[in-house]
Amino acid sequence: MTGLPEHLADLRAAAPPHLLPGVLHRVGLADHYAIRPSILGPVFVAFTRRGVSRVDLAGDPAGFEAAYLARFGRAVVPADAPPPRLAATVDRALGAGRTRGIPVDPAGLSEFQAAVLRSAAGIPPGEIRPYAWVAREIGRPGSGRAVGNALAANPVPLVVPCHRVVRADGRFGRYSLGADESKRVLLAAEGLEIEALEALTSRGVRYLGSATTRIYCHPTCRHARRITASRRAEFRSPGEAARAGFRPCRDCRPATA
Ligand SMILES: [Zn+2]
Repeated sequence: MTGLPEHLADLRAAAPPHLLPGVLHRVGLADHYAIRPSILGPVFVAFTRRGVSRVDLAGDPAGFEAAYLARFGRAVVPADAPPPRLAATVDRALGAGRTRGIPVDPAGLSEFQAAVLRSAAGIPPGEIRPYAWVAREIGRPGSGRAVGNALAANPVPLVVPCHRVVRADGRFGRYSLGADESKRVLLAAEGLEIEALEALTSRGVRYLGSATTRIYCHPTCRHARRITASRRAEFRSPGEAARAGFRPCRDCRPATA
């Protein structure tokens, strides 16, 4: 049902629809949402006092409000814009993929899902990591499939960049916001050279090392992108890199050091 206390559910039935948002706002029961531009087109961004609670492709407002109520047990009503400080960080994420430091309301997230989202939030723009990497980072090695499910159910796509977590075989996997293809669109907009990456993964290459530093990385790590072609070593596994005398990068952490 509505998730509202009974007396308010009665009110909902009795009040003319245009009065309801104001009433809920005054009793502090409603969250708010605004329409913001993004690389994927206009999106609804809902927020609470604790942070962003939901991001979805902007469509039918009534449908968004009903789905929000069903999912969070709270009403959501339109606002002109998020609070100014939140608006600035949200717009940087939606437009340029700069996602660090945006408060996310953790209500309704399991501990596992919250950990997965925190890990994904730390991946820089234009870089990708495999599902299994997130699983290892959060101390749950082997839970790559559950990580994939948690990311596909990410309530705040774009704000938490779940599009930067992909399959180990070079395919991009499912996406939580519209078409799976949107993942490629976002990553290309962030500067990821998709064709070069696919050329590597199609040959089974998963890591790149520098013969100068003897450090190896995920191919999209900013350090890997700086390796001169003549000094570049290719590896299929962390084991292969270790046997060649290379150690894992501390920034992209391709293996536990
Ligand atoms: Zn690295």
